[in-house]
Amino acid sequence: MPCLPRELPVHKLQGMPCLFVGVNRSPIERHALSPTGSYPFTNRNKSQKSKRKIEIMELDIKGAKDWGIGYKGDLPLLIAGPCSVETPEQTMESAMGLKGLGMHLLRGGIWKPRTRPNSFEGVGSMGLPWLKDAGRAIGVPVTTEVANAKHVYEALRSQIDVLWIGARTTVNPFAVQEIADALRGIDIPVMVKNPINPDLGLWMGALERLNKVGITKIGAIHRGFSAYGETKYRNRPQWEIPIELKRKLPQLPIVVDPSHIGGTREMIQPLSQKALDLAFDGLMIESHCNPDKALSDAKQQVTPARLIEIKTDLILRQNSTSDAGFYTQLEKLRASIDSLDTQLIELLGQRMQVAERIGQCKKENNITILQQARWDEISIQRTEAGEKVGLSDEFVVGLYNSIHKESIRHQTKVMNE
Ligand code: PEP
Ligand code: MN
Repeated sequence: MPCLPRELPVHKLQGMPCLFVGVNRSPIERHALSPTGSYPFTNRNKSQKSKRKIEIMELDIKGAKDWGIGYKGDLPLLIAGPCSVETPEQTMESAMGLKGLGMHLLRGGIWKPRTRPNSFEGVGSMGLPWLKDAGRAIGVPVTTEVANAKHVYEALRSQIDVLWIGARTTVNPFAVQEIADALRGIDIPVMVKNPINPDLGLWMGALERLNKVGITKIGAIHRGFSAYGETKYRNRPQWEIPIELKRKLPQLPIVVDPSHIGGTREMIQPLSQKALDLAFDGLMIESHCNPDKALSDAKQQVTPARLIEIKTDLILRQNSTSDAGFYTQLEKLRASIDSLDTQLIELLGQRMQVAERIGQCKKENNITILQQARWDEISIQRTEAGEKVGLSDEFVVGLYNSIHKESIRHQTKVMNE
């Protein structure tokens, strides 16, 4: 049942709160003991503990405050700058405009991976000193994208402070390994954008390859996943994927890139707020002194002045409070959720027993398992019923795809007995 929250493994539970009903601790004490504020699923005691565990990856990773870039870790890590370094003047002007933003890293693309040829593919190595000079002028370290060993050597030679691996490179283990090999023995922070396809394994694989050559200053950048056809986003956020990454690697800083997720200026603010509300560690936002004239990603870049406004409007929420009333209320509500989830699981179990009886009837009458007309009827009726109680079509469709798949599994088992 991968959709259920599971308990943390025993070694992660040590020193964590007993958040079980009936344990004699105040809600604040209980919460204070939890480093994440996340609670085990139900009021099980130790002897009833589930055998299921969350797979935590064992990587040696340093938080961004230990990257040696002057970041203290008290605020979200803020990275801003143009999509591409175009000219010395454009880079300097963009950086100067961002001076008052309070950002921690100035970004600028030097080698641009463009989807189609004949687009601007970056100025190449000659732009590295322009970026570094702009960063020096405002007292901010700089970062750029590298896609092969040559990029790494050039960037290191120009004293670029932090590197990132782009989405089109993360998909290719050969390229990631080449970059990792070029970085062996070098102490530089490297951020890894998610692969363009929604594949958590590839993303983790890239992080592992870096860690295996001794790089410990590692971060991830969530820039969304490409999809075929019309979507509201340039790259679909599929937040569940970076959330799962955070669960597997709790110490990994994950920065969200609302520019590449949204693809438009208007979406930067709401996506940034969502990223902070989901407790991600920072933001990477594209900002250009003259966005309309930008040589790449013009639609998703904002002026430095607009970015300062966006930042001012962002609400920073905490991950805990000293208000005991909040935890009392939260615990009551979570107890209701636990009880409803227990009923849901019971009901789903009963539903599958009925599915097995149907499977038996089909077997006795030599009838196929899949009955398309019935499946169509269920899909339409359940989506309509869901709508009436405020459930989105997307959710109900996903839920019933899973339920139907499980039903087929049960019926297939009966059919082959
Ligand atoms: C970029 O940051 O400008 C870029 C090319 O990003 P991505 O790798 O996310 O497409
Ligand atoms: Mn870009």
